[in-house]
Amino acid sequence: MPDTKGLVIVNTGNGKGKTTAALGLALRAWGQGLRVLVVQFIKGNWKYGELKAAEKLGPDFVIRQLGEGFVKHAKANANADHQSAAQTALAIARAEIASGGWDLIILDEINYAVKFGLVTVSECLELIGLKSGQMHLVFTGRDARPELIDCADLVTEMRAVKHPYQQGVKAQKGIEF
Ligand code: ATP
Ligand code: MG
Repeated sequence: MPDTKGLVIVNTGNGKGKTTAALGLALRAWGQGLRVLVVQFIKGNWKYGELKAAEKLGPDFVIRQLGEGFVKHAKANANADHQSAAQTALAIARAEIASGGWDLIILDEINYAVKFGLVTVSECLELIGLKSGQMHLVFTGRDARPELIDCADLVTEMRAVKHPYQQGVKAQKGIEF
């Protein structure tokens, strides 16, 4: 067995922490000199703290936001803008994975893009085929498809136990964005 292996990692489940865990991993990897790219498939409306952090961390920690607003329900299926934004994100993900220029790529919320029919599961699996043997690839978002889980080396399901939204606490800076 080789000492190192580029992993396919999936962070899924209904609990909070899928994206934050991926970013924690990204920070750890960057600290070890790995080149990190985050491709956001579904973009929120907030200015994320991680965007500011990435600017400070420099060229080996890059976040590319490519989604077109938050897709809330399956009706977005019919939305050509979402479709084309997700397909643009996919095309960029393909090129970046194949470029060999990154050691860790996070495909943030790509599982939602699949769930809402903006990207097919086959397109997702094809991305894995493009990566080098040493590159780590992370897929985040609820409802990861079983086909993806089958192909992965490391799968974590966040389970919701409590969430401050249930107490009516609003999204807070530094916690949610
Ligand atoms: P985070 O980016 O905070 O790590 P996440 O990636 O696990 O969250 P997403 O599915 O991307 O979660 O959802 C984004 C939003 O949904 C976040 O604002 C998050 O706090 C919220 N959320 C996640 N889990 C729950 C939950 N169990 N109840 C209510 N809101 C939730
Ligand atoms: Mg997330």
